[in-house]
Amino acid sequence: MTQFSDLRLDPKVLKAIEEAGYTTPTPIQAQAIPHALEGRDVLGIAQTGTGKTASFTLPLITRLGRGRARARMPRSLVLAPTRELAAQVAENFDTYAKYTRLTKALLIGGVAFGEQDKLIDRGVDVLIATPGRLLDHFERGKLLLTGVEVMVVDEADRMLDMGFIPDIERIFGLTPFTRQTFFYSATMAPEIERITNTFLSNPARIEIARQATASETITQELIELPATKRDAAAKLKREALRAIIEAEGDKLENAIIFCNRKVEVDILSKSLSKHKLDAAPIHGDLDQSLRTRTLERFRAGDLKLLIASDVAARGLDVPSVSHVFNFDLPSHPEDYVHRIGRTGRAGRSGKAISLMVPADQKYLEQIEQLLQRPLPRGIAPGIESLKTAPESDAPTPRPKRTRGARSAAKVDAPETQVETPLAEPVAQIVEPVALAEPPVRREDAPAPRERRDADRSNRDRSGRRDNRDNIVGMGDHVPDFLLREFRVA
Ligand code: AMP
Repeated sequence: MTQFSDLRLDPKVLKAIEEAGYTTPTPIQAQAIPHALEGRDVLGIAQTGTGKTASFTLPLITRLGRGRARARMPRSLVLAPTRELAAQVAENFDTYAKYTRLTKALLIGGVAFGEQDKLIDRGVDVLIATPGRLLDHFERGKLLLTGVEVMVVDEADRMLDMGFIPDIERIFGLTPFTRQTFFYSATMAPEIERITNTFLSNPARIEIARQATASETITQELIELPATKRDAAAKLKREALRAIIEAEGDKLENAIIFCNRKVEVDILSKSLSKHKLDAAPIHGDLDQSLRTRTLERFRAGDLKLLIASDVAARGLDVPSVSHVFNFDLPSHPEDYVHRIGRTGRAGRSGKAISLMVPADQKYLEQIEQLLQRPLPRGIAPGIESLKTAPESDAPTPRPKRTRGARSAAKVDAPETQVETPLAEPVAQIVEPVALAEPPVRREDAPAPRERRDADRSNRDRSGRRDNRDNIVGMGDHVPDFLLREFRVA
Protein backbone atom coordinates (compact mmCIF):
# COMPACT_ATOMS: atom_id res chain seq x y z
CA MET A 1 0.00 0.00 0.00
CA THR A 2 1.22 3.50 -0.84
CA GLN A 3 2.62 5.48 2.06
CA PHE A 4 2.89 9.26 2.22
CA SER A 5 6.65 8.85 2.14
CA ASP A 6 6.34 7.30 -1.36
CA LEU A 7 4.65 10.38 -2.74
CA ARG A 8 7.57 12.75 -3.31
CA LEU A 9 6.03 15.44 -1.18
CA ASP A 10 8.20 18.14 0.35
CA PRO A 11 9.87 16.70 3.50
CA LYS A 12 8.45 19.64 5.47
CA VAL A 13 4.96 18.61 4.39
CA LEU A 14 5.69 14.97 5.27
CA LYS A 15 6.76 16.02 8.74
CA ALA A 16 3.51 17.96 9.24
CA ILE A 17 1.43 15.00 7.99
CA GLU A 18 3.18 12.70 10.39
CA GLU A 19 2.46 15.06 13.25
CA ALA A 20 -1.18 15.21 12.21
CA GLY A 21 -1.16 11.43 12.78
CA TYR A 22 -1.71 10.28 9.20
CA THR A 23 0.38 7.47 7.80
CA THR A 24 -1.50 6.16 4.78
CA PRO A 25 -2.93 8.35 2.06
CA THR A 26 -6.63 7.94 1.34
CA PRO A 27 -7.47 6.65 -2.19
CA ILE A 28 -8.01 10.13 -3.60
CA GLN A 29 -4.74 11.30 -2.11
CA ALA A 30 -2.81 8.29 -3.37
CA GLN A 31 -4.21 8.76 -6.87
CA ALA A 32 -4.28 12.55 -7.20
CA ILE A 33 -1.03 13.60 -5.58
CA PRO A 34 1.39 11.95 -8.08
CA HIS A 35 -0.42 13.61 -11.02
CA ALA A 36 -0.59 16.91 -9.21
CA LEU A 37 3.13 16.83 -8.49
CA GLU A 38 3.83 16.14 -12.15
CA GLY A 39 2.05 19.40 -12.95
CA ARG A 40 -1.03 17.80 -14.45
CA ASP A 41 -4.56 19.10 -14.04
CA VAL A 42 -6.67 16.94 -11.74
CA LEU A 43 -10.39 16.34 -11.90
CA GLY A 44 -11.45 14.75 -8.62
CA ILE A 45 -14.94 13.33 -8.42
CA ALA A 46 -15.16 12.85 -4.71
CA GLN A 47 -17.12 13.94 -1.75
CA THR A 48 -16.13 15.49 1.48
CA GLY A 49 -14.88 12.89 3.94
CA THR A 50 -12.64 11.21 1.40
CA GLY A 51 -9.59 13.29 2.33
CA LYS A 52 -9.91 15.42 -0.81
CA THR A 53 -8.79 18.65 0.89
CA ALA A 54 -5.36 17.21 1.65
CA SER A 55 -5.24 15.71 -1.85
CA PHE A 56 -4.87 19.22 -3.26
CA THR A 57 -3.37 21.05 -0.26
CA LEU A 58 -0.33 18.76 0.05
CA PRO A 59 0.85 18.99 -3.58
CA LEU A 60 -0.02 22.69 -3.63
CA ILE A 61 2.28 23.38 -0.70
CA THR A 62 4.99 21.20 -2.22
CA ARG A 63 4.75 22.96 -5.54
CA LEU A 64 4.80 26.46 -4.01
CA GLY A 65 7.75 25.58 -1.79
CA ARG A 66 10.06 27.21 -4.27
CA GLY A 67 9.50 30.82 -5.27
CA ARG A 68 8.21 33.93 -3.60
CA ALA A 69 4.93 35.81 -3.63
CA ARG A 70 4.70 39.26 -5.16
CA ALA A 71 2.58 42.13 -3.88
CA ARG A 72 -1.09 41.77 -4.80
CA MET A 73 -0.37 38.75 -6.96
CA PRO A 74 -1.28 35.53 -5.17
CA ARG A 75 0.53 32.50 -6.51
CA SER A 76 -2.37 30.17 -6.01
CA LEU A 77 -6.09 30.43 -5.56
CA VAL A 78 -8.48 28.07 -3.79
CA LEU A 79 -12.19 28.68 -4.34
CA ALA A 80 -14.77 27.16 -2.02
CA PRO A 81 -18.55 27.68 -2.10
CA THR A 82 -19.13 28.61 1.53
CA ARG A 83 -17.29 30.54 4.19
CA GLU A 84 -17.06 27.50 6.42
CA LEU A 85 -15.50 25.38 3.72
CA ALA A 86 -13.04 28.12 2.83
CA ALA A 87 -12.13 28.44 6.51
CA GLN A 88 -11.69 24.69 6.71
CA VAL A 89 -9.30 24.68 3.74
CA ALA A 90 -7.38 27.48 5.46
CA GLU A 91 -7.10 25.35 8.60
CA ASN A 92 -5.82 22.42 6.53
CA PHE A 93 -3.29 24.71 4.94
CA ASP A 94 -2.09 25.92 8.35
CA THR A 95 -1.68 22.33 9.53
CA TYR A 96 0.26 21.06 6.54
CA ALA A 97 2.29 24.19 5.80
CA LYS A 98 3.42 24.78 9.38
CA TYR A 99 7.07 23.98 8.60
CA THR A 100 7.15 26.09 5.46
CA ARG A 101 7.27 29.84 5.13
CA LEU A 102 4.30 30.03 2.82
CA THR A 103 1.69 32.65 3.52
CA LYS A 104 -2.05 32.62 3.02
CA ALA A 105 -5.02 34.98 3.11
CA LEU A 106 -8.65 34.07 3.58
CA LEU A 107 -11.23 36.14 1.74
CA ILE A 108 -14.70 35.36 2.96
CA GLY A 109 -17.82 37.36 3.61
CA GLY A 110 -18.42 38.49 7.15
CA VAL A 111 -14.70 39.11 7.78
CA ALA A 112 -13.43 42.69 7.56
CA PHE A 113 -11.61 43.62 4.37
CA GLY A 114 -8.79 45.61 6.03
CA GLU A 115 -6.68 42.84 7.52
CA GLN A 116 -6.91 40.64 4.44
CA ASP A 117 -6.14 43.63 2.20
CA LYS A 118 -2.90 44.17 4.08
CA LEU A 119 -1.86 40.55 3.65
CA ILE A 120 -2.64 40.61 -0.07
CA ASP A 121 -0.77 43.89 -0.48
CA ARG A 122 2.30 42.25 0.97
CA GLY A 123 1.88 39.20 -1.26
CA VAL A 124 0.48 35.77 -0.43
CA ASP A 125 1.29 32.32 -1.71
CA VAL A 126 -2.19 30.92 -1.20
CA LEU A 127 -5.41 32.87 -1.44
CA ILE A 128 -8.46 30.99 -0.20
CA ALA A 129 -11.77 32.60 -1.05
CA THR A 130 -15.44 32.34 -1.79
CA PRO A 131 -16.07 33.44 -5.40
CA GLY A 132 -18.18 36.54 -4.63
CA ARG A 133 -15.76 37.93 -2.12
CA LEU A 134 -12.81 37.33 -4.42
CA LEU A 135 -14.47 39.26 -7.22
CA ASP A 136 -15.29 42.10 -4.78
CA HIS A 137 -11.59 42.43 -4.01
CA PHE A 138 -10.68 42.18 -7.65
CA GLU A 139 -13.13 44.89 -8.62
CA ARG A 140 -11.80 47.17 -5.92
CA GLY A 141 -8.46 46.92 -7.68
CA LYS A 142 -6.84 45.19 -4.72
CA LEU A 143 -5.84 42.06 -6.49
CA LEU A 144 -4.26 40.73 -9.67
CA LEU A 145 -4.83 37.15 -10.69
CA THR A 146 -2.22 37.08 -13.44
CA GLY A 147 0.34 35.47 -11.13
CA VAL A 148 -1.82 32.45 -10.26
CA GLU A 149 0.17 29.27 -10.89
CA VAL A 150 -2.34 26.85 -9.38
CA MET A 151 -6.08 27.23 -9.11
CA VAL A 152 -8.31 24.93 -7.09
CA VAL A 153 -12.08 24.75 -7.38
CA ASP A 154 -13.53 22.80 -4.48
CA GLU A 155 -17.10 21.45 -4.31
CA ALA A 156 -18.02 22.62 -7.80
CA ASP A 157 -21.40 20.89 -7.64
CA ARG A 158 -22.33 23.05 -4.70
CA MET A 159 -21.08 26.11 -6.58
CA LEU A 160 -23.46 25.15 -9.34
CA ASP A 161 -26.33 24.80 -6.87
CA MET A 162 -25.54 28.22 -5.47
CA GLY A 163 -25.38 29.98 -8.80
CA PHE A 164 -21.62 30.63 -8.69
CA ILE A 165 -20.71 29.08 -12.02
CA PRO A 166 -20.65 32.40 -13.93
CA ASP A 167 -18.31 33.79 -11.24
CA ILE A 168 -16.09 30.74 -11.54
CA GLU A 169 -15.91 31.11 -15.32
CA ARG A 170 -15.00 34.75 -14.93
CA ILE A 171 -12.29 33.95 -12.39
CA PHE A 172 -10.86 31.25 -14.64
CA GLY A 173 -10.67 33.89 -17.36
CA LEU A 174 -8.69 36.23 -15.10
CA THR A 175 -5.97 33.68 -14.38
CA PRO A 176 -3.21 32.69 -16.83
CA PHE A 177 -4.11 29.78 -19.09
CA THR A 178 -0.78 28.20 -18.18
CA ARG A 179 -1.99 27.61 -14.63
CA GLN A 180 -2.40 24.15 -13.18
CA THR A 181 -5.99 23.38 -12.13
CA PHE A 182 -7.39 21.06 -9.48
CA PHE A 183 -11.12 20.72 -9.78
CA TYR A 184 -13.33 18.81 -7.33
CA SER A 185 -16.97 17.92 -7.55
CA ALA A 186 -19.08 15.23 -5.93
CA THR A 187 -21.15 14.80 -9.09
CA MET A 188 -20.65 15.61 -12.75
CA ALA A 189 -23.73 17.51 -13.85
CA PRO A 190 -23.65 18.52 -17.55
CA GLU A 191 -22.84 22.11 -16.60
CA ILE A 192 -19.87 20.94 -14.54
CA GLU A 193 -18.72 18.71 -17.37
CA ARG A 194 -18.84 21.71 -19.68
CA ILE A 195 -16.71 23.82 -17.34
CA THR A 196 -14.12 21.10 -16.96
CA ASN A 197 -13.97 20.58 -20.72
CA THR A 198 -13.44 24.31 -21.19
CA PHE A 199 -10.96 25.10 -18.45
CA LEU A 200 -9.05 21.92 -17.65
CA SER A 201 -6.33 20.64 -19.87
CA ASN A 202 -6.12 16.87 -20.26
CA PRO A 203 -6.88 16.29 -16.58
CA ALA A 204 -6.20 13.11 -14.64
CA ARG A 205 -9.75 12.04 -13.80
CA ILE A 206 -10.05 10.39 -10.41
CA GLU A 207 -13.35 9.09 -9.21
CA ILE A 208 -13.93 7.91 -5.67
CA ALA A 209 -16.94 5.80 -4.74
CA ARG A 210 -19.82 7.55 -3.08
CA GLN A 211 -19.61 7.76 0.65
CA ALA A 212 -23.01 6.18 1.24
CA THR A 213 -21.95 2.97 -0.36
CA ALA A 214 -18.58 2.99 1.39
CA SER A 215 -19.45 3.93 4.92
CA GLU A 216 -20.80 0.90 6.69
CA THR A 217 -20.10 2.40 10.08
CA ILE A 218 -23.30 4.45 10.07
CA THR A 219 -26.47 2.89 11.44
CA GLN A 220 -29.43 4.41 9.67
CA GLU A 221 -32.96 4.55 10.92
CA LEU A 222 -36.18 6.05 9.65
CA ILE A 223 -38.95 7.05 12.03
CA GLU A 224 -42.27 7.34 10.27
CA LEU A 225 -44.70 9.69 11.94
CA PRO A 226 -48.41 9.61 11.28
CA ALA A 227 -50.35 12.09 9.18
CA THR A 228 -51.33 15.25 10.95
CA LYS A 229 -52.32 18.69 9.90
CA ARG A 230 -49.41 20.64 8.52
CA ASP A 231 -48.84 22.90 11.54
CA ALA A 232 -49.06 19.95 13.87
CA ALA A 233 -46.49 17.98 11.88
CA ALA A 234 -43.61 20.24 12.89
CA LYS A 235 -44.65 20.08 16.53
CA LEU A 236 -44.99 16.35 16.36
CA LYS A 237 -41.52 16.09 14.84
CA ARG A 238 -40.07 18.28 17.58
CA GLU A 239 -41.69 16.10 20.18
CA ALA A 240 -40.49 12.91 18.49
CA LEU A 241 -36.98 14.32 18.27
CA ARG A 242 -36.89 15.11 21.97
CA ALA A 243 -38.18 11.64 22.79
CA ILE A 244 -35.51 10.04 20.62
CA ILE A 245 -32.76 12.19 22.12
CA GLU A 246 -33.90 11.10 25.54
CA ALA A 247 -34.11 7.46 24.51
CA GLU A 248 -30.59 7.52 23.04
CA GLY A 249 -29.32 8.69 26.45
CA ASP A 250 -25.56 8.66 26.91
CA LYS A 251 -25.02 7.08 23.51
CA LEU A 252 -25.78 10.49 22.10
CA GLU A 253 -22.60 12.43 22.72
CA ASN A 254 -23.39 15.16 20.24
CA ALA A 255 -25.51 15.57 17.15
CA ILE A 256 -26.05 17.62 14.06
CA ILE A 257 -29.75 18.07 13.35
CA PHE A 258 -30.59 19.07 9.79
CA CYS A 259 -33.60 21.09 8.74
CA ASN A 260 -34.48 22.04 5.20
CA ARG A 261 -35.24 25.66 5.92
CA LYS A 262 -33.48 28.38 7.86
CA VAL A 263 -36.67 29.36 9.65
CA GLU A 264 -37.09 25.79 10.85
CA VAL A 265 -33.47 25.75 12.06
CA ASP A 266 -34.25 28.76 14.27
CA ILE A 267 -37.55 27.43 15.53
CA LEU A 268 -36.16 24.01 16.38
CA SER A 269 -33.13 25.44 18.09
CA LYS A 270 -35.29 27.72 20.26
CA SER A 271 -37.68 24.90 21.02
CA LEU A 272 -34.92 22.51 22.10
CA SER A 273 -33.31 25.21 24.24
CA LYS A 274 -36.67 25.89 25.83
CA HIS A 275 -36.79 22.23 26.74
CA LYS A 276 -33.42 22.59 28.47
CA LEU A 277 -31.42 20.90 25.75
CA ASP A 278 -28.04 22.30 24.78
CA ALA A 279 -28.72 23.49 21.22
CA ALA A 280 -27.63 26.28 18.88
CA PRO A 281 -28.44 27.10 15.26
CA ILE A 282 -26.18 27.59 12.26
CA HIS A 283 -27.37 28.84 8.88
CA GLY A 284 -26.50 31.36 6.21
CA ASP A 285 -28.43 34.30 7.67
CA LEU A 286 -26.57 34.30 10.95
CA ASP A 287 -23.68 36.61 11.55
CA GLN A 288 -20.38 35.07 10.50
CA SER A 289 -18.68 35.54 13.86
CA LEU A 290 -21.61 33.81 15.57
CA ARG A 291 -21.44 30.94 13.07
CA THR A 292 -17.74 30.56 13.72
CA ARG A 293 -18.17 30.64 17.49
CA THR A 294 -21.02 28.13 17.40
CA LEU A 295 -18.94 25.77 15.30
CA GLU A 296 -15.95 26.12 17.55
CA ARG A 297 -18.10 25.30 20.56
CA PHE A 298 -19.49 22.26 18.79
CA ARG A 299 -16.05 21.08 17.71
CA ALA A 300 -14.67 21.57 21.22
CA GLY A 301 -17.51 19.53 22.74
CA ASP A 302 -19.02 22.56 24.48
CA LEU A 303 -22.24 22.35 22.50
CA LYS A 304 -24.24 19.16 22.23
CA LEU A 305 -26.80 19.80 19.49
CA LEU A 306 -25.99 21.78 16.36
CA ILE A 307 -29.10 22.62 14.35
CA ALA A 308 -28.05 23.23 10.79
CA SER A 309 -29.08 23.93 7.26
CA ASP A 310 -27.39 22.08 4.40
CA VAL A 311 -25.41 24.97 3.05
CA ALA A 312 -24.03 26.02 6.42
CA ALA A 313 -23.04 22.51 7.41
CA ARG A 314 -21.93 21.08 4.10
CA GLY A 315 -18.47 19.64 4.20
CA LEU A 316 -17.85 20.65 7.77
CA ASP A 317 -15.30 18.45 9.32
CA VAL A 318 -16.07 17.62 12.92
CA PRO A 319 -14.25 14.36 13.48
CA SER A 320 -16.47 13.01 16.22
CA VAL A 321 -20.22 13.32 15.81
CA SER A 322 -22.20 10.47 17.38
CA HIS A 323 -25.58 11.23 15.79
CA VAL A 324 -27.07 12.95 12.78
CA PHE A 325 -30.77 13.69 12.65
CA ASN A 326 -32.77 14.61 9.61
CA PHE A 327 -35.50 16.66 11.17
CA ASP A 328 -36.72 17.05 7.60
CA LEU A 329 -35.94 14.56 4.87
CA PRO A 330 -33.88 16.46 2.31
CA SER A 331 -35.52 17.23 -1.00
CA HIS A 332 -32.32 16.37 -2.88
CA PRO A 333 -31.27 12.78 -2.19
CA GLU A 334 -27.53 13.61 -2.43
CA ASP A 335 -27.99 15.82 0.62
CA TYR A 336 -29.04 12.78 2.60
CA VAL A 337 -25.66 11.25 1.84
CA HIS A 338 -23.82 14.46 2.73
CA ARG A 339 -25.75 14.85 5.94
CA ILE A 340 -25.33 11.35 7.32
CA GLY A 341 -21.65 11.49 6.33
CA ARG A 342 -21.14 13.96 9.19
CA THR A 343 -21.20 10.96 11.53
CA GLY A 344 -19.32 7.67 11.39
CA ARG A 345 -16.15 9.42 10.26
CA ALA A 346 -12.69 7.91 10.23
CA GLY A 347 -13.96 4.42 11.06
CA ARG A 348 -15.96 5.47 14.11
CA SER A 349 -19.52 4.28 14.44
CA GLY A 350 -22.37 6.72 14.11
CA LYS A 351 -26.13 6.82 13.99
CA ALA A 352 -28.31 8.68 11.50
CA ILE A 353 -31.97 8.99 12.39
CA SER A 354 -34.47 10.55 10.00
CA LEU A 355 -37.96 11.72 10.77
CA MET A 356 -40.62 11.66 8.12
CA VAL A 357 -44.29 12.45 7.74
CA PRO A 358 -46.41 10.99 4.94
CA ALA A 359 -45.94 14.10 2.79
CA ASP A 360 -42.20 13.25 2.58
CA GLN A 361 -42.85 9.96 0.78
CA LYS A 362 -41.48 11.28 -2.50
CA TYR A 363 -38.21 12.35 -0.88
CA LEU A 364 -37.90 8.97 0.82
CA GLU A 365 -38.31 7.19 -2.50
CA GLN A 366 -35.56 9.30 -4.07
CA ILE A 367 -33.21 8.60 -1.17
CA GLU A 368 -33.86 4.87 -1.21
CA GLN A 369 -33.35 4.83 -4.95
CA LEU A 370 -29.98 6.55 -4.56
CA LEU A 371 -28.90 4.23 -1.76
CA GLN A 372 -30.35 1.27 -3.64
CA ARG A 373 -31.86 -0.12 -0.49
CA PRO A 374 -34.67 0.71 1.88
CA LEU A 375 -33.88 2.67 5.00
CA PRO A 376 -34.34 0.50 8.08
CA ARG A 377 -37.49 1.55 9.92
CA GLY A 378 -37.20 2.42 13.60
CA ILE A 379 -39.85 2.76 16.23
CA ALA A 380 -40.70 6.16 17.61
CA PRO A 381 -40.53 6.32 21.38
CA GLY A 382 -43.88 7.10 23.06
CA ILE A 383 -45.11 10.45 21.83
CA GLU A 384 -47.66 12.12 24.04
CA SER A 385 -49.31 14.27 21.42
CA LEU A 386 -50.34 11.22 19.46
CA LYS A 387 -52.54 10.37 22.39
CA THR A 388 -53.63 13.92 23.22
CA ALA A 389 -53.73 17.24 21.36
CA PRO A 390 -50.36 18.36 20.01
CA GLU A 391 -48.32 20.53 22.38
CA SER A 392 -47.42 24.05 21.52
CA ASP A 393 -43.79 24.71 22.25
CA ALA A 394 -42.62 27.08 19.60
CA PRO A 395 -43.93 29.62 17.21
CA THR A 396 -45.09 28.22 13.91
CA PRO A 397 -43.73 30.08 10.89
CA ARG A 398 -46.29 32.37 9.36
CA PRO A 399 -47.10 31.26 5.87
CA LYS A 400 -45.51 33.54 3.31
CA ARG A 401 -47.62 35.14 0.65
CA THR A 402 -46.56 34.05 -2.76
CA ARG A 403 -47.77 34.84 -6.21
CA GLY A 404 -50.19 32.00 -5.73
CA ALA A 405 -51.73 33.66 -2.69
CA ARG A 406 -54.88 35.13 -4.05
CA SER A 407 -56.51 36.49 -0.90
CA ALA A 408 -55.94 36.75 2.82
CA ALA A 409 -59.11 34.80 3.52
CA LYS A 410 -57.77 31.98 1.45
CA VAL A 411 -54.43 32.07 3.27
CA ASP A 412 -56.33 31.19 6.39
CA ALA A 413 -58.32 28.46 4.69
CA PRO A 414 -58.67 25.53 7.08
CA GLU A 415 -56.12 22.80 6.65
CA THR A 416 -58.83 20.18 6.49
CA GLN A 417 -59.80 21.47 3.10
CA VAL A 418 -56.77 19.92 1.52
CA GLU A 419 -57.07 16.71 3.40
CA THR A 420 -60.54 15.68 2.35
CA PRO A 421 -60.44 14.20 -1.13
CA LEU A 422 -63.53 16.01 -2.32
CA ALA A 423 -62.26 19.41 -1.33
CA GLU A 424 -58.78 18.82 -2.70
CA PRO A 425 -59.17 20.13 -6.23
CA VAL A 426 -60.51 23.42 -4.92
CA ALA A 427 -57.83 23.68 -2.29
CA GLN A 428 -55.18 23.00 -4.90
CA ILE A 429 -55.99 26.26 -6.54
CA VAL A 430 -56.49 28.49 -3.58
CA GLU A 431 -54.43 27.02 -0.80
CA PRO A 432 -51.31 29.19 -0.76
CA VAL A 433 -49.81 27.84 2.45
CA ALA A 434 -48.65 24.80 0.59
CA LEU A 435 -47.04 26.98 -2.05
CA ALA A 436 -44.62 28.43 0.43
CA GLU A 437 -43.94 25.10 2.01
CA PRO A 438 -41.47 22.99 -0.01
CA PRO A 439 -37.96 22.99 1.36
CA VAL A 440 -35.35 25.31 0.01
CA ARG A 441 -31.71 24.51 0.52
CA ARG A 442 -29.67 26.93 -1.54
CA GLU A 443 -29.78 29.63 1.03
CA ASP A 444 -26.55 31.44 0.22
CA ALA A 445 -27.15 31.40 -3.48
CA PRO A 446 -27.56 34.76 -5.10
CA ALA A 447 -28.65 34.06 -8.65
CA PRO A 448 -31.14 31.25 -8.63
CA ARG A 449 -33.47 32.98 -6.21
CA GLU A 450 -36.13 33.79 -8.77
CA ARG A 451 -35.87 30.34 -10.19
CA ARG A 452 -36.23 28.92 -6.71
CA ASP A 453 -39.25 31.03 -5.93
CA ALA A 454 -40.79 30.05 -9.22
CA ASP A 455 -39.96 26.47 -8.48
CA ARG A 456 -41.50 26.69 -5.04
CA SER A 457 -44.68 28.24 -6.26
CA ASN A 458 -45.07 25.46 -8.76
CA ARG A 459 -45.18 22.72 -6.20
CA ASP A 460 -48.03 21.53 -4.11
CA ARG A 461 -48.07 20.33 -0.53
CA SER A 462 -46.48 16.99 -1.33
CA GLY A 463 -43.80 18.59 -3.45
CA ARG A 464 -45.51 17.59 -6.69
CA ARG A 465 -45.13 19.96 -9.54
CA ASP A 466 -48.13 21.62 -10.99
CA ASN A 467 -48.68 24.62 -13.14
CA ARG A 468 -51.24 26.54 -11.20
CA ASP A 469 -49.23 29.76 -11.42
CA ASN A 470 -49.52 29.53 -15.11
CA ILE A 471 -53.29 29.42 -15.06
CA VAL A 472 -53.92 32.71 -16.77
CA GLY A 473 -56.90 32.26 -19.01
CA MET A 474 -55.71 28.65 -19.37
CA GLY A 475 -53.66 29.24 -22.52
CA ASP A 476 -52.71 25.91 -24.00
CA HIS A 477 -52.53 24.25 -20.62
CA VAL A 478 -55.25 22.19 -18.96
CA PRO A 479 -54.68 22.06 -15.20
CA ASP A 480 -54.78 18.67 -13.49
CA PHE A 481 -57.87 19.32 -11.48
CA LEU A 482 -60.00 19.83 -14.54
CA LEU A 483 -59.07 16.37 -15.71
CA ARG A 484 -59.80 14.76 -12.38
CA GLU A 485 -62.91 12.77 -11.55
CA PHE A 486 -64.89 14.06 -8.61
CA ARG A 487 -66.28 10.74 -7.52
CA VAL A 488 -65.45 9.63 -3.98
CA ALA A 489 -63.43 6.44 -4.03
P1 AMP B 1 -11.98 15.93 3.67
O1 AMP B 1 -12.54 14.95 2.70
O2 AMP B 1 -10.88 16.73 3.09
O3 AMP B 1 -13.08 16.78 4.28
O4 AMP B 1 -11.28 15.12 4.88
C1 AMP B 1 -12.00 14.33 5.76
C2 AMP B 1 -11.25 13.98 7.04
O5 AMP B 1 -10.23 13.04 6.80
C3 AMP B 1 -10.55 15.15 7.73
O6 AMP B 1 -10.83 15.03 9.11
C4 AMP B 1 -9.09 14.93 7.51
O7 AMP B 1 -8.33 15.48 8.55
C5 AMP B 1 -9.03 13.42 7.48
N1 AMP B 1 -7.92 12.91 6.70
C6 AMP B 1 -7.37 13.46 5.60
N2 AMP B 1 -6.38 12.69 5.11
C7 AMP B 1 -6.33 11.60 5.92
C8 AMP B 1 -5.52 10.43 5.92
N3 AMP B 1 -4.58 10.22 5.00
N4 AMP B 1 -5.73 9.51 6.87
C9 AMP B 1 -6.70 9.71 7.79
N5 AMP B 1 -7.50 10.80 7.84
C10 AMP B 1 -7.32 11.73 6.93
